[in-house]
Amino acid sequence: MKKADVIVVGAGPSGLRTAARLARAGLDVRVHEKKPRVGAGIVCTGIVGREVFDDFGLDRGAVVAEMGTVRLVSPSGTELVYTHPRPFACVVDREKFDIGLAAAAEAAGATVACGGAVDDISVGPDGVEIAVRDAEGGVRRESAAVAVLATGVDFGLQKKLGLSAPREFLKGAQVECSFPGAGTTTLFFGRDVAPGAFAWSVPSGPGRARVGVLTHRDARACLRGLIERHLGGPGLREEGPVRSRPVAQGLLDRTFGDRVLAVGEAAGQTKTTTGGGISYGLACADLAAEAILECFDRSSFGPASLSGYERRWKGLLRKEILVGHTTRRMCARLSDGRIESLFQLARTDGIVPIIRATADFDRHSGLIFALLERLSFMSFFRDVRDRLGPFSAS
Ligand SMILES: Cc1cc2nc3c(=O)[nH]c(=O)nc-3n(C[C@H](O)[C@H](O)[C@H](O)COP(=O)(O)OP(=O)(O)OC[C@H]3O[C@@H](n4cnc5c(N)ncnc54)[C@H](O)[C@@H]3O)c2cc1C
Repeated sequence: MKKADVIVVGAGPSGLRTAARLARAGLDVRVHEKKPRVGAGIVCTGIVGREVFDDFGLDRGAVVAEMGTVRLVSPSGTELVYTHPRPFACVVDREKFDIGLAAAAEAAGATVACGGAVDDISVGPDGVEIAVRDAEGGVRRESAAVAVLATGVDFGLQKKLGLSAPREFLKGAQVECSFPGAGTTTLFFGRDVAPGAFAWSVPSGPGRARVGVLTHRDARACLRGLIERHLGGPGLREEGPVRSRPVAQGLLDRTFGDRVLAVGEAAGQTKTTTGGGISYGLACADLAAEAILECFDRSSFGPASLSGYERRWKGLLRKEILVGHTTRRMCARLSDGRIESLFQLARTDGIVPIIRATADFDRHSGLIFALLERLSFMSFFRDVRDRLGPFSAS
């Protein structure tokens, strides 16, 4: 097969966006996806900031719900309802969303091939070679000038090439359910429900919701507990299988090498507060495409040529990833009693106005610093604030 300009491994949002941008610029781009079709078996709630569609010129056809009000439930069942001045996020049908991105990549001239796992990768002086294994076990080799690893939480290829992989993960589990009240977005907190993070019920269509858990413990067991304790009742029906998947946490050291770079969750480009990774992946895909196009302009594909990619994406996200990570890890130590007192405080004092004024769906550090300042009369939050001190000014 003729050598391509760029091979992209992984047809999730990050890989497809990178492919579309490169193909639109005239490069010969091939995307390889191991699943039988784009969007198959995704584990994702599909929440994205409302700006994502305008920022990335995306069609809103995959939107199934808008979010403006969130119900928060404390460990003892105390409720707090927060309404933002306007809808701040959308819930998308992830399968449809990814199919739309694949259509855009193909319309730009990229080839998207499903059902073949890239099993091996090697870099030589003239290019990158991959081995693609199809469902019947047949292997074929392909080559390109550059490879983009957009493999989500599969890190085998980048480890082989000496790129970094995350050392820490949270565990996510989710199931689609129908029940009365499914139309209200609800977040659940507490050591029983979701130790280490939080749980949710997010509308996914009329009478339906995606019910999920993010935790450092057994996510499937936590999900069972959530459904039994908070949502169980004769009206609840599970509409599909429980699916689980890890979520990468933390800033990766090295996300590029000779003729190769990693993008999206493969590069740890996820929000360390909530685990969301779609918008960071799309933004970094644009930076990856920009860096690769510069390599083609200079006919130089070595690490020095690709290092600008890492500088740029870390310039955009480093602070968010580190501040979110430290805050979430420290908040994972909060006792249920402390979470209850935060709920009480939120009912009575100025926390809600701070959220209204500072909340940004994708960039949480501003809100984190504002809340820590407000809560700094408690030694626990003063400690978190002090630990984050070096970032507050940057
Ligand atoms: C329970 C849960 C809920 C979530 N909810 C949200 C949310 O509401 N909003 C949000 O923004 N994020 C959410 N996320 C995170 C989000 O799903 C990921 O951040 C996002 O999918 C990352 O996109 P990506 O393109 O980098 O990787 P992926 O979407 O994971 O795509 C990677 C693709 O690469 C393919 N692949 C891997 N290895 C190979 C190989 N060797 N050969 C060929 N193909 C390969 C995989 O099959 C996959 O299709 C959630 C995650 C979980 C677990």
